[in-house]
Amino acid sequence: MNNCFDDTTELRQEIIDICLKLNKLGLCIATWGNISVRLRNCMLITPSRMDYAAMRPEDMVAVALDDGRKLSGDRLPSSETALHGALLNYRPDIAVLVHSHAPYASALACAHRALPVFVEDMAQIIGAAVNCTAYVPGGRHQDLAEAACKVIGQTAMAVLLANHGVVVGGSSLQEALTATLVLEKAAMIQINAGSDIKPIPEDQVTEERYRYLYKYGKE
Ligand SMILES: [Zn+2]
Repeated sequence: MNNCFDDTTELRQEIIDICLKLNKLGLCIATWGNISVRLRNCMLITPSRMDYAAMRPEDMVAVALDDGRKLSGDRLPSSETALHGALLNYRPDIAVLVHSHAPYASALACAHRALPVFVEDMAQIIGAAVNCTAYVPGGRHQDLAEAACKVIGQTAMAVLLANHGVVVGGSSLQEALTATLVLEKAAMIQINAGSDIKPIPEDQVTEERYRYLYKYGKE
């Protein structure tokens, strides 16, 4: 699995394209979403509070993963830089993180409810139950980063941020966007099915995830 990218204009443009899709798909409103991509020794992250439609490739900011110091770029990095850096450090298997305020996932996050795995596409692309952090007041970026690492675990490709939104990982920008949509659909199912929901047995979730990673479309 390729889990770091070269810093190219095409990559930077793709980040902008995914940001625009997040808005178009209703997964975030205005600039309340941000994206990071793992580079060889750092990450590339979207700038803080900048209209996606006005973003240019040169507006992306390269930031160190350990302490969040800016390495290159003229803009201020996203206010959620600590969250992205901590999660990319904690989970070396994740290459891309998409943070959004997807409505159904946010509804569960506001109820502090976890999502068990109960639908096949979620088993494949998310890979495990998705936990929710404890509540962290807005603006405490380091505390939020620590809270997310505390509950994401080693296999789930997503974590809910209490009273806030969701962070979803992937091995590419497109996969992280697709995973965000799959998680959003799962959240909608959970809300609609309520207590009737029947989780998929854990060994089957593991098998589905393995099939997606190593066999799906490859045999
Ligand atoms: Zn947010």
